[in-house]
Amino acid sequence: MALFQALSRFVNGNTASQENIDPNQPLDTGVTIISGIDPRATSEAKLIAPAPLPHISRRSLKRVKHRVPVPDTCPYCGNDHVELVEHKTVYKRSYGEWLYLYLCRNQACGAYVGVHPHTDIPLGTLADLATREARKANKSWFMRLMKRQQCGLNIGYLWLSEEMNIRAEQCHWSMFDVDLCEQAGAICKAKFEDGTILMPKNFSRAK
Ligand SMILES: [Zn+2]
Repeated sequence: MALFQALSRFVNGNTASQENIDPNQPLDTGVTIISGIDPRATSEAKLIAPAPLPHISRRSLKRVKHRVPVPDTCPYCGNDHVELVEHKTVYKRSYGEWLYLYLCRNQACGAYVGVHPHTDIPLGTLADLATREARKANKSWFMRLMKRQQCGLNIGYLWLSEEMNIRAEQCHWSMFDVDLCEQAGAICKAKFEDGTILMPKNFSRAK
């Protein structure tokens, strides 16, 4: 198959149709990404905030360059009752600036994800308990590495996407499943422990 692909690429050239078999192309993690700013950010129409949000801000919508769709079905239990709720529905104590979540209403599941401040745009994909724990534990290596590098998170994510060979817009802890968390965590842990200063080839591109 590899030989066929190589021959095919040789014959056809590096066309768009060959992208999915080009080993140099970043891999698609499968997370749906809508690129570009939410059209509501520039619409004339009055912004309607879905309950229980008090408002939605155009300025905040504009900050989100790539977004994932609002979840309507839970990928873990298949429940189609996913609802925007206040933090206090899940947490005993509320913290953060924008205290809302998308929550799978199947009580046995309870997957959830946060929301970009002053918008109704999810921060990523729904996470069940195992995914939340994997995101938290592995992200801590990333954060320790970024702190040591004194590196901005945008640059850090760009570096990580290259290390993982995934699309940059899909490279965020809130979009990772358990496997991707473990892969990303292992990369960050190894870099942290070997003590070398990172020199990602695209640091200049990220500025
Ligand atoms: Zn669920």
